[in-house]
Amino acid sequence: MKKLVVKIGSSVLTLDNGKPDPVRFKAFAKDVSRVIDRGYAVVVVSSGAIAFGSSLAGASLAPDSIAHKQVLSSIGQPLLINAYTDSFRPYDRIVTQVLLTHEDFMDRQRYLNARRSMDLMLAQGFVPVVNENDTIAVDEIKVGDNDTLSAMVAAMISADRLIILSNIDAIFDKDPYRYHDAKPISEIQHIEQYKSFDEGKSRYGVGGIRTKISAARQLARMGISTTIANGRTDGIVTKLVDQFAQGNGAGIGTTVVASQRRISGAKKWVSLLLKSSGIITVDDGALSAVHKNKSLLAAGILGTSGTFKQGDVVSIADARGREIGRGISNYSVTEIGMIKGKKSSQINGSLGYSKGDEVIHRDNLILTASSSAPGRGE
Ligand code: GLU
Repeated sequence: MKKLVVKIGSSVLTLDNGKPDPVRFKAFAKDVSRVIDRGYAVVVVSSGAIAFGSSLAGASLAPDSIAHKQVLSSIGQPLLINAYTDSFRPYDRIVTQVLLTHEDFMDRQRYLNARRSMDLMLAQGFVPVVNENDTIAVDEIKVGDNDTLSAMVAAMISADRLIILSNIDAIFDKDPYRYHDAKPISEIQHIEQYKSFDEGKSRYGVGGIRTKISAARQLARMGISTTIANGRTDGIVTKLVDQFAQGNGAGIGTTVVASQRRISGAKKWVSLLLKSSGIITVDDGALSAVHKNKSLLAAGILGTSGTFKQGDVVSIADARGREIGRGISNYSVTEIGMIKGKKSSQINGSLGYSKGDEVIHRDNLILTASSSAPGRGE
């Protein structure tokens, strides 16, 4: 079963007054149902809660602070889900609501639970509609925008593709609102080297081109391609699926092609997180070892910051504080405080037990910075 994540922005789903546009919801449900009938599993990541909440609450509660947005989303999220439930009913499709924050991804158990639950929904032929849990989201725990959230969900369920639908046809070589000779780019092969202009934000959406490109870039590194297209084009999801089936990345919209083979398991989980639970600072020796795909041992650890427990994702930083990688720590911050700088053979003596020589095992470690190993220059 091929899995798609389709992210749809508020700009597609709202009328000018901020209310849900029933015509768009109906058309989208028809389009997605057709694709499911063809054997695809589809997860929808939908914005609109804050926009719809604002349209009901009026001027007394402007979406200008986190506190207001939390309340507005609690008004708008039920409207959003109702609009989906109503729109999918004629196609006998059950809609499920999944509300996530970054914290749900950071805790491995919660992440695995969410994944398992979503897999079950897809196996049943349901349509999960995901949004950030804006009502409880504060800066420290939130993902922040649904482009990024959709990439995290795509990675989590190992989707075959991410489709991002907004009010733009494609990514252009320059700002199409300012230059009429701007040309759409149908395929981006090397997203690492790609630099785009920033066309700003839509009225209600949090992101813009920047968050779409960064979502696609994050997924490309994990082996998943993303297509960015206009959600107002009739039957866009079906058209894109036809395009993919012909093995043709290029065509409608812009496809950001995966630049790596698919990564799986713990490394994928480490890669999709936006934040880590703490920092382990290492010396030059450990830095070289990590760059040579070796595990991080206690001997090369200079210090730590933050509070993390065994199994959390931590950043590995050089002595200047630059993050060079991330990985799953086998030891808690307290334990590392007692074994840092020591040989692996001394761990038992210091702690009274050992969980192994590796503080971060190479299988659970990814490099994040493009900086090279010490001694090889910048
Ligand atoms: N979660 C927000 C909402 O539903 C939208 C975030 C975004 O536009 O990226 O209103």
